[in-house]
Amino acid sequence: MRAVLSVASEVAPLVKTGGLADVAGALPAALAAEGWAMRTLLPGYPAVLEAARDGREVWREERLFGGPGRVLAFRAAGLDLMALDAPHLYLRDGGPYLGRDGKDWPDNPERFAALSWAGAAIAADGLEDWRPEVMHVHDWQAGLAPLYLKERGGRARSLITIHNVAFHGLADADRRAALRLPEAGFTTEGYEFWGRISALKAGLVWADRISTVSPTYARELLTPEFGMGLDGVLRAREADLAGILNGIDEAAWNPVTDAAIVRYRAPSGKARNRAALCAELGLAPPEGPLCVVVSRLSEQKGLDLLLAALPRLLAAGGALALLGSGDAGLEAMFRQTAAADPARVAVRIGYDEALAHRLIAGGDAILVPSRFEPCGLTQMYGLRYGTLPVVALTGGLADTVITANDAAMKAGVATGLQFHPVTAAALAEALERLAALHADRPAWTVMQRNAMRHPVGWAASAPAYAGLYAELAAA
Ligand code: ADP
Repeated sequence: MRAVLSVASEVAPLVKTGGLADVAGALPAALAAEGWAMRTLLPGYPAVLEAARDGREVWREERLFGGPGRVLAFRAAGLDLMALDAPHLYLRDGGPYLGRDGKDWPDNPERFAALSWAGAAIAADGLEDWRPEVMHVHDWQAGLAPLYLKERGGRARSLITIHNVAFHGLADADRRAALRLPEAGFTTEGYEFWGRISALKAGLVWADRISTVSPTYARELLTPEFGMGLDGVLRAREADLAGILNGIDEAAWNPVTDAAIVRYRAPSGKARNRAALCAELGLAPPEGPLCVVVSRLSEQKGLDLLLAALPRLLAAGGALALLGSGDAGLEAMFRQTAAADPARVAVRIGYDEALAHRLIAGGDAILVPSRFEPCGLTQMYGLRYGTLPVVALTGGLADTVITANDAAMKAGVATGLQFHPVTAAALAEALERLAALHADRPAWTVMQRNAMRHPVGWAASAPAYAGLYAELAAA
């Protein structure tokens, strides 16, 4: 087996705020099948240290951004992990990125510079018994690692994957020295972004290769509309940019074995889950499609459009069940909407893995109206569970759903609906079309079967990553 180091700020099932954790947690098994043994370095948050209790110390530095740091190697949840144990940075109450007050930790630049530093050190020098050929880093939290690695030298090559270009990891310019950044790199061609430090940009400039999580997002990133100010940097590196679609964890998301639901193999098995879900949420079982949402509530996810389009879904006989958390304004509006019409709209604010499974098993359709979506995972869960996705035509949503247009219906290959432009009006039309399709039972069942057969795992993407690693290692 060849060795690859992965550096990520969250890894499921230990710590998760979004899709990054799912992917960081799923990559090792997918890559093992391709001959690459992956070890993953992550911050020693309290929950991680708990799992690393019997870990073996493999690296240490007495002065790591304001205190001692050491890396503990351990196995958990079938993964080879390394926790960066640095209590002054990670041992605190709150989330991985935000304090109890919902604000970014003020020392986030140092917290993730330390993660990147340790990753680069391990990639450059290797460990006593392990020397990675490739360092694969994720998002801004590990963005400084390729720069640090280049500074140190060493044979390992680096790949950065963009899971979401909206988060730049910005820090004030006067923190350059504190973040151990080379002065010479503070330019527009380097890690400077409008007078500040951008950890993501550092990764995009210094990594040997760049990838993102779907082919369509890879193209979109090159445009001002989606590049979030980094499209120019990415255009300059277009030849080094690849779009590799995420897969889902097919063991965790499998209606045949899912312990959180009434298991099923065929679409007909969804009926009992639907009935149970309606009973649980206090919904009157709708004549039309029961639509579900499992999402962060943020501007990106376009759920304000859903609020505007919802009356048309309800008028068409549908109902809505939403699980999410995030933006306080959106949370309040969804709560109000549910309170005004509890038999047709159910809203649960919070983070609940088991409820997410019950929603996806019991829903007829899953809605993902994102303004931009690097890949998106929930529409793929929907496919696997025969819960037809209604998605905005953007990013990974464009790459994973076959929309029910005339040609696809005639050919019998449709798996869901895509709408464009990403507006409330276009979403409302898609929801009415969904209701019409739902009323046509035979056509609906064909779509469900197509969806459940659609590949959503790592079969195609794992070899793509392995190919990239091999190219990097050979360079
Ligand atoms: P993003 O990473 O932008 O949040 P993705 O679709 O890539 O979006 O991944 C989101 C992941 O987080 C999915 O696994 C989804 O099921 C999960 N998720 C999001 N919100 C919740 C929630 N409120 N409860 C449970 N799981 C959630």
